Amino acid sequence: MMPLTAVYRRTAARSSSLFANSQRRFSNFGLNQTVRNPTKISAKVHNNSFYTNFQHRIGFNSISISHTRPSSISLRHSYRRFPSTSMASTSSSSNNPISDTMASLSVSDPSAEDEGKRVYQPRYIDVGINLTDKMFQGVYNGRKSHDSDLENVIQRAQAVGCKMLMVTGSDYQNSQDAVNMAKAYPGLIFATVGVHPCSASALINSAGGVENLPSALKPVEELALQGKTQGTVTAFGELGLDYDRFHYSDKESQLVVFEQQLEIAKRVDLPLFLHSRAAEEDFNRLLFAAKLPRKGLVHSFTGTVEEMKILVGEGYDIGINGCSLKTEENLAVVKELPLERLQIETDGPWCEIRGTHASAKYLRTMPAYLTDIVPGDVKKDRFKVGMRVKGRNEPCAIAGVAWVISQVKGCSFKEVCEKSWENSMKMFRFDEAAILQEEFKESNPDSKAVEAEEQG
Ligand SMILES: [Zn+2]
Repeated sequence: MMPLTAVYRRTAARSSSLFANSQRRFSNFGLNQTVRNPTKISAKVHNNSFYTNFQHRIGFNSISISHTRPSSISLRHSYRRFPSTSMASTSSSSNNPISDTMASLSVSDPSAEDEGKRVYQPRYIDVGINLTDKMFQGVYNGRKSHDSDLENVIQRAQAVGCKMLMVTGSDYQNSQDAVNMAKAYPGLIFATVGVHPCSASALINSAGGVENLPSALKPVEELALQGKTQGTVTAFGELGLDYDRFHYSDKESQLVVFEQQLEIAKRVDLPLFLHSRAAEEDFNRLLFAAKLPRKGLVHSFTGTVEEMKILVGEGYDIGINGCSLKTEENLAVVKELPLERLQIETDGPWCEIRGTHASAKYLRTMPAYLTDIVPGDVKKDRFKVGMRVKGRNEPCAIAGVAWVISQVKGCSFKEVCEKSWENSMKMFRFDEAAILQEEFKESNPDSKAVEAEEQG
């Protein structure tokens, strides 16, 4: 089996992503070839100021590369020659449609093309994703089921159009992990830093009492401030109140940790990433009293229309994921939610849209160009590289969230994607953070070495 190679080149707009999926057409790339069983894909990004080389060995599925400000990108795709049906091409004139030598062609960036000629190429920011969760390392309830496939999860996210992922930090250690992830994926991953209400009791216990809480929260504040200057941290949180889960943290602990973090938020001066469950009165009282100018996002919203309206009236955005679309009452809230206050998220590995949810009926009407680029799922014990895992939500499912919202609100899919994009960019300032990340990298040779290692 002789490996075949093809090289594709294109000029790119300011920000660009490549996507090659072995089982499907290179549609994002403007090519009409289906190639199965690739052995290796590599891409080079040429830029006026620097030159980067990406190379990924892959199982059999997909690769996605994105980079800001490239001037051109070339993609090399080699694959094994398999008999008859393993390769297909729209070119019918040859049995061997892809020549053994390198093929090179130039195509323009689809996203830069006239919209009327193409289907809308969505772009998303998953503002609530728990990529540090052990499930993305293949560990479920403390038991290892399969190897880590985090890299594949991230590639799939990029393949559907996720340009930015904001990884949730839920306590000091977890926030540190999120920040490290942001360092490893500059320009793509950003982190939140904070203490989740369910982690409040544990923090107080480890501090040795509530009187030591201010000093226990000091490292959280420092991590947030440092990440802010380095561009890795774009929000303070997750913080808030969860009165549905007192088995993790009692009410008193939650209240004091929330209150003290709101004080810290005044000094950190980042927008908030907020969590509120069955605690509206206390939550609003403490939040509004803090009078934070940068406001924030109340993520994974499951409250009533009235609760939503109060938050929106105070200038807070509402984060919608699969959990926010479970019941008809949830859908009624989404219908009323002004697009100006909408942001979208998956909250993976949690909060997927399930068949029993009120939203499921809308998923069935999703167009093929959105569903085709997402691979099927298998049970965790039958894990296969390149497949999703049943019951484990991940960022590539964000298209479903946006689609359901568009159907519920009776507006276009594009409008939902673009409006939530705009709202997230405005609140979390990812573009400014990406510049800070780059500047920090340049003045810090160690982080450059880390990046080179990861690409190698
Ligand atoms: Zn939450």
